[in-house]
Amino acid sequence: ASRVDIVTSQQVKDVDIIENSCVVQILLNEPNPMVEKSLRYQIEAALKAQNADLQVAVNFSTNDGQGNRLNVGSIIAVGSGKGGVGKSSVAINLAIAFQKLGYRVGVIDCDIYGPSIPTMLGIEDKKPMMMNGKIQPVEAFGLKVISAGFFVEQGQSLIWRGPMIHKLIHQFAYDVDWKECDVLVVDLPPGTGDAPLSLSQTLPLTGAVMVSLPQKVSIIDVHKSLSMFHQVKVPVLGMVENMSHYECSSCHHREEIFDHGRVRKFCSEQNIPYLGEIPIDPRLRQGCDEGRPFLLDYENSAAGQALLNTARRLQPFLKTVEESAEDAIRIVS
Ligand code: ADP
Repeated sequence: ASRVDIVTSQQVKDVDIIENSCVVQILLNEPNPMVEKSLRYQIEAALKAQNADLQVAVNFSTNDGQGNRLNVGSIIAVGSGKGGVGKSSVAINLAIAFQKLGYRVGVIDCDIYGPSIPTMLGIEDKKPMMMNGKIQPVEAFGLKVISAGFFVEQGQSLIWRGPMIHKLIHQFAYDVDWKECDVLVVDLPPGTGDAPLSLSQTLPLTGAVMVSLPQKVSIIDVHKSLSMFHQVKVPVLGMVENMSHYECSSCHHREEIFDHGRVRKFCSEQNIPYLGEIPIDPRLRQGCDEGRPFLLDYENSAAGQALLNTARRLQPFLKTVEESAEDAIRIVS
């Protein structure tokens, strides 16, 4: 990152000097307590070097003017063109993979039309608690989880209109006590509806990962999602081919049920990174149904390795909370 001082970057909004006190207003792109702490320290030191008796107060605000606090390192959205391609399964297993790589991970289930994450993590009966005016995420396997499913009775359906979706996503991000999460994995609803749009306007997304089956009809819909992400300027970090093939566990015959290799080809045509292929593994489906992520038990399986390798390929885009704070400090002392 280039280093520009806060005056040049026009982040100093106001400086008021009243007798012996000085109030400095600083604008940040996104709230970040660690950046604030460091900036406050540096600004105070710089001003006190001019006048040791000066009382200095430094206030921070963000561009959206809502005083938001989102103390996370990076946010990865998992999307798909269609439902049923394994987007949610990939999202939770990727979350576990990030955890195995040493990150503190949170999961936001924004799949409002079919929030399946609570079932996949065995927490469908849990309800988030409120503490100090903040929603506490539900913990499962070390992940911090918030889901649209916690707020809708099972089997009930809600008609979600644009503004409601926007509000929900905003609440999931800013009214939830994410404490210190390095990576937030966001499970998007399939397709190109209001939610991905709202999300890209509400959250500072690091980027999106797309999940597709290799068959043509699945890829066609992914293409639409790609142009949408492009329009809203969310970087597409790559694509995963799910249900890439099936290997019979007794005779080891390989069957390419949904075709194979089309996602890799599509990625090279579209010039986006190919993140790997996950075979069909009945234990993965079973893990989803039983509420225990597959990767916890089958890391060495082909599907497990594919998921871990996908996480490793995404690693260059990930930041811990601390790294993200350091990056945001753009002051030259
Ligand atoms: P989506 O979120 O795209 O609607 P899900 O993650 O709910 O899809 O997956 C649909 C079904 O397919 C689930 O029952 C899931 O367990 C199963 N599934 C997904 N990927 C695989 C895979 N690689 N092998 C076996 N079953 C899978």
